[in-house]
Amino acid sequence: MDLGIKGKWALVCGASKGLGLGCAQALSAEGANVVIVARGIGELERTAEALRAASPGVQVIAVAADITTPEGRALALSAPGGPGTAFDIVVTNAGGPPPGDFRAWDRDAWLKALDANMITPIELIKATVDGMAQRGFGRIVNITSSAVKAPIDILGLSNGARSGLTGFVAGVSRSGLAAQGVTINNLLPGAFETDRLKTTMEGAASKTGQPVDAIMEARRKTIPARRFGQPAEFGAICAFLCSLQAGYMTGQNVLADGGAYPGAY
Ligand code: NAP
Repeated sequence: MDLGIKGKWALVCGASKGLGLGCAQALSAEGANVVIVARGIGELERTAEALRAASPGVQVIAVAADITTPEGRALALSAPGGPGTAFDIVVTNAGGPPPGDFRAWDRDAWLKALDANMITPIELIKATVDGMAQRGFGRIVNITSSAVKAPIDILGLSNGARSGLTGFVAGVSRSGLAAQGVTINNLLPGAFETDRLKTTMEGAASKTGQPVDAIMEARRKTIPARRFGQPAEFGAICAFLCSLQAGYMTGQNVLADGGAYPGAY
């Protein structure tokens, strides 16, 4: 299926590896030009090279920046070829807050989580949606977490910050933007095989004193698919949400979790 996004400009945050990279791969494979953002320049440049090699017709611009800072966002939004108002697609993502015990988190820890997982996506939405609306096409996909629907105790910072974003998106996606061709959806990963998953499992291992492998095996058994997801699978769903065909889908929280969430709704 042709997703109808060839030649469009996409900003993909947190894209040097993991789920963001999965999204950048899927979008560029569909012919979208991508601006990819991450803090570490080395891995980001290697990723950009690999994307260019995989999709020779598309433009790939690497921006080394911390997307959670105003300066980082300004840099990403003014990237050559894709100034803020000209992005057609924005995938927000900033890495997740650390796991832990809520008793250990002070005000600064909360502000950092809110900045990364709530305020940054809101600022990126604010900077891009009006230009999208004027052009009559826009797609925002926020990478959040299945923890929004089924909170995980040690991920309290994530549960809290992402719930704030989810509430904001539910409102703004149904504002006048919906009638102007701009959709805003959240894509909720369950357990995907990335470095982040490894870190989360290591956190659980040190909390319980069990080996990481045992924690991972136990987690796999809780997933009906009996495996962790692959970033490419996540990217494919993201690309669909960014497609022409998904224009009637907005304000949704789309779970990709191998069936782990047990509810009907
Ligand atoms: P990952 O493998 O650790 O990759 C994170 C990516 O984001 C890297 O490219 C990282 O590069 C970049 N990044 C992190 N902080 C950034 C910042 N401040 N500014 C710009 N780039 C930044 O993580 P992932 O597994 O793909 O997770 C992506 C998101 O999904 C996270 O929010 C995570 O909490 C959430 N999630 C993941 C899972 C899962 O199973 N993987 C499940 C639920 C939710 P640099 O470090 O070089 O900046």
